[in-house]
Amino acid sequence: MIEPGLFLGVIAALAGMMIGSFLNVVIYRLPKNESIVLPGSHCTSCNSAIKWYHNIPILSYFILRGKCANCGESFSFRYAFVEMLTGTLWFWGFYKYALPEAILFVIIVSILIAISFIDIDLMIIPLVLILMALVVLFGYYLIYPENAITAIWGMLMGVCYLGGVYLLTKGMFKKETMGMGDLQLIAVLGSWIGPMNIAATIFLGSLITLIAFGIANRLSGKEADRALPFGPFLAFTGIAMFMLNPDWMNVMKYLHVI
Ligand SMILES: [Zn+2]
Repeated sequence: MIEPGLFLGVIAALAGMMIGSFLNVVIYRLPKNESIVLPGSHCTSCNSAIKWYHNIPILSYFILRGKCANCGESFSFRYAFVEMLTGTLWFWGFYKYALPEAILFVIIVSILIAISFIDIDLMIIPLVLILMALVVLFGYYLIYPENAITAIWGMLMGVCYLGGVYLLTKGMFKKETMGMGDLQLIAVLGSWIGPMNIAATIFLGSLITLIAFGIANRLSGKEADRALPFGPFLAFTGIAMFMLNPDWMNVMKYLHVI
């Protein structure tokens, strides 16, 4: 006998891998303003259409050993990674949460995955993805208004906190330290995970970004104009914070803040 949560989780994982496959297309085509539906998947090297049985998430990557079946050009392992990541988070969503929250979780993390990898590639966050996430979130809060106030506080907390960090660091370093897209992303995350989680996300996300900065400088020498995408650090810290969902009252008692 399989637990209902586990069974639903496995089905969701399979669906999530297929969504991950679609997200790869979105990540590649959306910033170029190409259609994300047509034409179907094709090799970016020889342009040949990829047959459906060569386009099974993760499995095909390993069967074809990461190469195009037609020309033999290597595909980045990242395609399979995005599929695995999406599948894993979809599993978690349906295994852990009750229905309306599970659906919200998988939609929001899917949009956040697309945002993160586009930011990694191009250092931009497409506004259309931000708006899509906000429409989903506020549609959800219209149907389930009991969390709407927390969402608004989360959004305000996120935008004010990160906005403050932005003004402070801009003054300190005399250059742009983050983009408008990062503030928009924080508005999305804040209205999803609430004020305490978003404050922790900004604090930890910034810390992790600074550490990554240090590692990048160590590995490939100091560069005065080195820039790292901030979005993925914020997005994945936010997702982790939602998944952990710490009991902040207890944390503050433990830290003797209250
Ligand atoms: Zn090819």
